[in-house]
Amino acid sequence: MRLILVGPPGAGKGTQAAHLVEKYSIPQLSTGDMLRAAVAAETPIGLQAKAVMDAGGLVSDEIVVGIIRDRIAEDDARNGFILDGFPRTIAQAEALDGMLDQGNLKLDAVIELRVDQTKLVDRIIKRAEDAKAAGQPVRKDDDPEVFKDRLEAYNRDTAVVVPYYEKTGLLTVVDGMQSIEEVTAAIDSVLQGLDEKV
Ligand code: AMP
Repeated sequence: MRLILVGPPGAGKGTQAAHLVEKYSIPQLSTGDMLRAAVAAETPIGLQAKAVMDAGGLVSDEIVVGIIRDRIAEDDARNGFILDGFPRTIAQAEALDGMLDQGNLKLDAVIELRVDQTKLVDRIIKRAEDAKAAGQPVRKDDDPEVFKDRLEAYNRDTAVVVPYYEKTGLLTVVDGMQSIEEVTAAIDSVLQGLDEKV
């Protein structure tokens, strides 16, 4: 199963990806997580990416495409993966197509978590509060002002990825404003439908 989760920051991609990891025993490939790890480890990529991430902008296509190219070549991704936060631009989507073609691989589905953007800032404030209460670090870019810039980057650069996949017939829209459990159930039913088609 090769799957993309797309949607603005705070739509619930990471939460739903975690559920899919359990269910399908395939890895979640989150470019955000990989970049945060690179920043924490102060690798050359991390050092380059840090300022852009702190400001809520997009890291260069070259860097993230390189990260994904290396990651999908790893053993645990051989039977499939869930892409979370990638592709975020048309150039990244095209690069992914090229990588998949090269490996004779196909995407099974692209799921858009569609949300009411006016409610996202409240959600992100809650995510920061929950993290704090659980003694986890609060993401710097979950600051409401930076979050607005991330949302702007989504609308400017990433929203076009949705029609890109709509044209391929792979896209399904799921209402991301439902409860976590309801969104999970909706995604499960989309993926079950794919199993039945095979
Ligand atoms: P996320 O955890 O997916 O919200 O990503 C956090 C930050 O990492 C984003 O705001 C970007 O700065 C950077 N980032 C993650 N994935 C990408 C990507 N595919 N392209 C460019 N920048 C990315």
